[in-house]
Amino acid sequence: MFDKILIANRGEIAVRIIRTCKLMGIKTVAVYSEVDFRSPYVQVADESCLIGPARAQDSFLNPVKILEVAVSLGCQAVHPGYGFLSENPEFARMVLEAGLVFIGPTVEAIALLGDKMASKALAMKTGVPVVPGRQEPVANLDEALRTAKEIGFPVLLKPAAGGGGRGMRIVNDMTELPGALESCRIETQKSFGDDRIFVERFITRPRHIEIQIIGDNFGNIIHLGERECSIQRRYQKVIEETPSRAIHGSLRNEMGKIACDLARAAGYTSAGTVEFILDAEKNYYFLEMNTRLQVEHPVTELVTGLDLVELQIRIAAGEPLNIEQEDVLIKGWAIEARICAEDPSRGFLPTTGMITRYAIPTGKNVRVDSGIDAGSVITIHYDSLLTKVSAWGANREEARKTLIRALNGYHVEGITTNLDFVNSILSHPAFASAELSTNFIDEHFEDGQSRIPPSEQDLHYMTMAAVLVSHTRRNLVRDSLRPMSPHVGGAEPTPTIHKYVVRTSHNVFDVLLEGSEQNRRWNVTVNDKQYKVVAPEFEYYRRRLKLYVDGIANMFRLQYLDNHIKAYFCGIVRIFEIYTPLEWGLAHFMLRDIKPVKENSLKCPMPGLITAVIVEEGTQVRKGQELLRMESMKMESAVAAPRDGQIDKVLAKPGQTVDTDEILITFKE
Ligand code: ADP
Ligand code: ADP
Ligand code: MG
Repeated sequence: MFDKILIANRGEIAVRIIRTCKLMGIKTVAVYSEVDFRSPYVQVADESCLIGPARAQDSFLNPVKILEVAVSLGCQAVHPGYGFLSENPEFARMVLEAGLVFIGPTVEAIALLGDKMASKALAMKTGVPVVPGRQEPVANLDEALRTAKEIGFPVLLKPAAGGGGRGMRIVNDMTELPGALESCRIETQKSFGDDRIFVERFITRPRHIEIQIIGDNFGNIIHLGERECSIQRRYQKVIEETPSRAIHGSLRNEMGKIACDLARAAGYTSAGTVEFILDAEKNYYFLEMNTRLQVEHPVTELVTGLDLVELQIRIAAGEPLNIEQEDVLIKGWAIEARICAEDPSRGFLPTTGMITRYAIPTGKNVRVDSGIDAGSVITIHYDSLLTKVSAWGANREEARKTLIRALNGYHVEGITTNLDFVNSILSHPAFASAELSTNFIDEHFEDGQSRIPPSEQDLHYMTMAAVLVSHTRRNLVRDSLRPMSPHVGGAEPTPTIHKYVVRTSHNVFDVLLEGSEQNRRWNVTVNDKQYKVVAPEFEYYRRRLKLYVDGIANMFRLQYLDNHIKAYFCGIVRIFEIYTPLEWGLAHFMLRDIKPVKENSLKCPMPGLITAVIVEEGTQVRKGQELLRMESMKMESAVAAPRDGQIDKVLAKPGQTVDTDEILITFKE
């Protein structure tokens, strides 16, 4: 066995590989670029070495530099992870020439299978069904037109050297072909330095099904079942699961056997994945083979109990596979969600920035593969994948619910991610009933938002979470002020029923709390629905609240925005404005009167006495923020800002009596 391995990668996959190395007693060397020196994977490695500037070409894609480090630090093997140099046969060859072991398949297998057209040809020879299409690259537009007519529209243009979903174009009819061919050609040339394009039939609403295989150097090849990766955006996976609802026993065995046949024909060793698409009639077609560890390998590990990285290392060290096909047992169900630095509301464009606050989910049957921490800087230089959160369950529904709950408790602040988006996919009824296809996101979402409104129950749960946190905070403030209160005669009895009116951008809820903070048990009524709630402590640092509703634990993320609360639950994000009935009366009165856009002053909502002015000239305020307090009819209430903006003049003074519609505060511009 090896003493020391270099990991030619970064982020979550480097952390993942190092974890297994530690379990196996193997020392690890991490390589990093100038922007990565603080990353968690650098911290957990035994040794680490700077290999160059941030730009991938100058660091993670520089084989000479990486191998210099491996040799000088006495490594015996290199694990390439995925992406970067992992499917580059030239790199694998250089590793061998440096006298080291490449943890992966042979140079020849990578070269053969890395080319989509060559691997498709091999698949056909082996008897694997392939997507109908032409087996040579198209030379020009005429040939592309002829081929497309033969296959029948819609067709898909694909770069032979492609990967990561890049360059592919759907063509629906003749008129779209010239433009699509041109832009595909430009993109594949730019991304892969290769301009070969081939034409395939575009299978409509397919499911993506792939088979994990693993082989040793003694001719043993087995498969570890399928994964379904149909939830994709831009031909890239976002949510993966195993097993698949679309695959039944005999089909699993058949596809598994075919995948092993193909791997055998290619002389394949180590872990690899044979990708297929499945049409509505359950015909499957070979897409490509990935000659590396796959991003979504954790779900396979969760249901098989195997460690794929360990198997890869043992095979690379010359050990035979210690399991046979019959030993592979699939237990339960596992689902993985990829958390990426990207903005679903803006076409999944990548986002950058610094993670300012970070709390990962924990819990039984939850697995987190995280490459970041508070303080991590996300740059434009690398892949947007930050973390993978996976859940295991005895069945699909259990795994799905566990994953949703885990994501409800995952807090990332400082950077926009797809966290709530993936959670709303998992929470969608069509996902729950496993009606999946690679069109899922386009069919059910628009600009990152579900096309169907959230369920009433989810909104009620969020309302209760927001009200309980707000209520507790109000009471803490009240209790801390009590010693200063002019009332005599000891403590006032705490009322046991509290009424609130809660407003979001879409709804208004009447909430009744019955109970007390002391025992944290509440009877809560939202509109006319009643719930029994137990509210353990709000974890302030993690911005996380656990609430038992009718005996079931639910996790919420909550953030204060001035005196409003922004809540996140099952992919739903809402701002809750919480009012006592009196405050609500005032707010309602004001809001009815105020034209939100043009209003540049705060008018007095009622006759009364100004008791406090909270803001001053120049203060930046948000709509709904408390600006001053007034007393009227012996009751004190807050007066809120009618809009966002900067305070220009404060005309009201404490002690002053004012009348309805008198201008109290003006805003700039
Ligand atoms: P998987 O099936 O394991 O998800 P992907 O095709 O998504 O495989 O690729 C794995 C990772 O490597 C992804 O993060 C992807 O963005 C990246 N990747 C794959 N191929 C390329 C490529 N040719 N250029 C750049 N990045 C790539
Ligand atoms: P990459 O190397 O980018 O991973 P793949 O060939 O694996 O390329 O395809 C990626 C995704 O594109 C598939 O998962 C599927 O969603 C879609 N796709 C590829 N080929 C077809 C096709 N012929 N018909 C429909 N969808 C396809
Ligand atoms: Mg693929």
